[in-house]
Amino acid sequence: MPVLVMKFGGTSVANLDRIRRVAKRVGVEVAKGYDVIVIVSAMSGKTNELVGWVNETSPLYDAREYDAVVSSGENITAGLMALTLQEMDVPARSWQGWQVPLMTTSAHGQARIEEIPTKNINEKFGEGMRVAVVAGFQGISPEGRITTLGRGGSDTTAVAFAAAFDAERCDIYTDVDGVYTTDPRICEKARKLDRISFEEMLELASLGAKVLQTRSVELAMRYKVKLRVLSSFEEQSDEAGTLVCDEEDIMESNVVSGVAYSRDEAKMTLQSVADRPGIAATIFTALSDGGVNVDMIVQNISDEGRTDMTFSCPTDQVARAEQALLAIKEQGELNYAELIADTDVAKVSVVGIGMRSQSGVAAKMFKVLSDEGINIKVITTSEIKISVLIDRKYMELAVQALHDAFELDQAA
Ligand code: ASP
Ligand code: MG
Repeated sequence: MPVLVMKFGGTSVANLDRIRRVAKRVGVEVAKGYDVIVIVSAMSGKTNELVGWVNETSPLYDAREYDAVVSSGENITAGLMALTLQEMDVPARSWQGWQVPLMTTSAHGQARIEEIPTKNINEKFGEGMRVAVVAGFQGISPEGRITTLGRGGSDTTAVAFAAAFDAERCDIYTDVDGVYTTDPRICEKARKLDRISFEEMLELASLGAKVLQTRSVELAMRYKVKLRVLSSFEEQSDEAGTLVCDEEDIMESNVVSGVAYSRDEAKMTLQSVADRPGIAATIFTALSDGGVNVDMIVQNISDEGRTDMTFSCPTDQVARAEQALLAIKEQGELNYAELIADTDVAKVSVVGIGMRSQSGVAAKMFKVLSDEGINIKVITTSEIKISVLIDRKYMELAVQALHDAFELDQAA
């Protein structure tokens, strides 16, 4: 029988009532003839609570125990979902990650999936089980310890199962009815997209559109898993939601398909570093060893052998960055005048595969911002994206102005 993967996020399984509601949807797909793999998140708020308990107990926690605690939210929903389905006379059972077993690396807290053997679950499908309810977000390391896949990791569990079982589709049920041209909370003209390419979704996800974990989109792209994002709160139809698919499956699209933003960005400038081979390597090795995720990088033109180096990183990593850079300064590995942190910035980006073939998108973006009197502090581009750092207080204005200028409220 064809396999369908259905993933339910935290709000879709927030209480027993909601679990019953989504179980009915699973029942509908079973009645259509699918063997269904259901991936569940923890009830909404649960994982945050568990993380809080770990931090309170042990600020410098043992990551293996962090995973033991934090993975447990999903175990509850998996069991409850299986019970609910059984009450509806749908043959179902729950699976924790280790029972599958979903094999991961040993990188606790952010493990990567290595392998999903299909044998155990397929055997049960062969014996008449119709739904395998799998706890998302968790797996088992080569050492036999429980691991988790990073926050939002159930999306990745779902896509990985869809790839392993060659599922017809992977439906991600959430509390929004799809992927939007931008965040409807800050731009009322935001429009739901019927389709979006893997590449654009990848950019949007990593730029802060929180609807899918970035890693899940990478996997879907690599294994060509048809991914659909839809709401568990609205009536179901085959056309519902947004299909994340291959570029070739999209007939028409705007040059720009979305505007993304991230509030959580800081700009850091190292003033007056030597302009010679090895300096950038020294700086960014120290930052990476210090666990800082650097995003944008700009190096100024040098003046008498000295230059300024600017980079951006998440706001909550500023202290770590300062520590890492001060350490190499004190060890004499790097000399700089000052390190200036600007935490009142935001990143705004426009994304679209159409940019590959059409020029002038950057010029238009900069003109729109300048017409609004918004100063650009840092710019980076890729083949299908242009990002700028601006003062945070102008973020919403910038998003709205760009959404208007690129006419994203209208379909292509
Ligand atoms: N419950 C986990 C989290 O909140 C995983 C997930 O829901 O995707 O990060
Ligand atoms: Mg999520």
